[in-house]
Amino acid sequence: MIRNIIIIYLFTTILTTFFFSAYILSKTYNKITALFFAFNISIAIYIFGYLLELNSDTLNQKIFWNHVQYFGISFFVPLWLMFVLSYVRKNKIFNNYAAYFGFFFIPAITLFMNLTNSYHKLYYHSMQLNELLGFANMQLIKGPWYMVQTVYSTFIILSATGMILWKYKKSREERVYYRLLLIASFIPYFGLLLIFLDGGRSGLDFTALFIPPALILLIFAILKYDFLEIKSMAREKMFEISSEAVFILDNEFRLVDFNRAAKGFLDTHQEKLLNRLIDTIIENRPGLLNCMKQEEKVIWSKVEEGQELFFEITSIKIQNAYNRNIGILKTIRDITEEIKLQKKMEFLADIDALSGLNNRRHFMELGQKELMRAKRYNQPFSILMMDIDHFKATNDTYGHAAGDKVIENIGLLMRDNFRITDILGRIGGEEFAVILANTSLEEGAKKAESFRKNIASNVMKYNQMDISVTISLGVAAFDNNAKNLEEILKIADEALYTSKKEGRNRVTVRAL
Ligand code: GH3
Ligand code: MG
Ligand code: MG
Repeated sequence: MIRNIIIIYLFTTILTTFFFSAYILSKTYNKITALFFAFNISIAIYIFGYLLELNSDTLNQKIFWNHVQYFGISFFVPLWLMFVLSYVRKNKIFNNYAAYFGFFFIPAITLFMNLTNSYHKLYYHSMQLNELLGFANMQLIKGPWYMVQTVYSTFIILSATGMILWKYKKSREERVYYRLLLIASFIPYFGLLLIFLDGGRSGLDFTALFIPPALILLIFAILKYDFLEIKSMAREKMFEISSEAVFILDNEFRLVDFNRAAKGFLDTHQEKLLNRLIDTIIENRPGLLNCMKQEEKVIWSKVEEGQELFFEITSIKIQNAYNRNIGILKTIRDITEEIKLQKKMEFLADIDALSGLNNRRHFMELGQKELMRAKRYNQPFSILMMDIDHFKATNDTYGHAAGDKVIENIGLLMRDNFRITDILGRIGGEEFAVILANTSLEEGAKKAESFRKNIASNVMKYNQMDISVTISLGVAAFDNNAKNLEEILKIADEALYTSKKEGRNRVTVRAL
């Protein structure tokens, strides 16, 4: 009865855990899941061997199944430690082949000793059948290598538990996972305790009985919390593939970690970068170094192949569970395109697209500045207002698109004819204005007249059509009778109106 219950219990639990570990492996394949699966296989071999040993009645059969168990027993302990090490990310150990040797040397000897026991009796002194719990059980008197194996296993299992405990204390976010892992790793100790208390009298293998619940708890934790670290692996991946350069520094500005994008900012020819002061790592870029030392967000720029590049450097303090600053996270993001776009937008907001001249708003803004300047230095400036003559007729004759071309052309001619210091604007549909810096009314009048002639003699080609237009102008000037800009513009506009009235294609000058 007891025997059948134990057999059914072991059979169902081990089948379940095996099934789920295979499922986990198929869901996410990585080193950790592979180790977990290998660990489960070794446990399954062990438990199946044990239940077949329980189920057999003759000593020879039992010895045979005992051998089979050792293909699992010998290896599940180191596999467990490897799984734990990978899980707590101490897996650098595995880069060293000597480590594998260290892990599997004693287990391999154990397996050999067990399989060849009948020749040397170093593993079991004796193996006998005994009827104890109502069924035939095997009583084993342990030999010296069994002791070696026990000490080794205990040492490994304790190390694994120690690892989990250390990680459990250290980690904040993943605590719930480590707690479950810790509980799972403690369950088999009860088995060990019972073996110790029982002293081999019942002949039952309590470890075998306690492993399944531990495994079930582990699998539950894996499935429930995805604790094979899809989360932190994804985070690690993000860190690595981020297009932003990321640097992790300690409080003394020693480089602790950096991602792929960060390499471009470091002198990677230097062989050892980690754990060195950032000052010595980027000493050949004092500008960058200075920016990296700032606590607030800064923009750093450098010139590369004749092009100015801009970078935004941000700084985030890293704090531990007790809110103590333990380091700094620095990120560098290339914002060249953003800056370019911003400049373009600013330009677009100020410049009229058709004529390429300042729009009305910007013209007025610049005009105000010029007025202030003129007042401060006691200098004159003149204003020309112009309007295309009979532009409606031009539109009607040649079409609206041709009219647009005329406006574009006038913009070009204005930029050609006036000085860079003059302020040019398209202030209405076909109305333009110019502020001539440091220019008296007379000089302004001369400039207006020459520009009028220029336009009148200009012939523009558009779709094989020759188009020419004339403009009327009005000129006013600022003298130190300090009036505001609008007033001067109004006077120039009145002068323009006079030009229109008196027959167009002419200049009217009006003093304030
Ligand atoms: P005037 O000599 O009295 O100035 O006669 P005008 O026909 O030019 O009269 P007015 O200045 O009142 O008319 C302006 C015309 O300019 C009306 C409008 O159709 C045209 N116009 C204004 N803006 C644009 C533009 O951006 N493109 C084109 N093609 N035409 C425009
Ligand atoms: Mg007009
Ligand atoms: Mg007009």
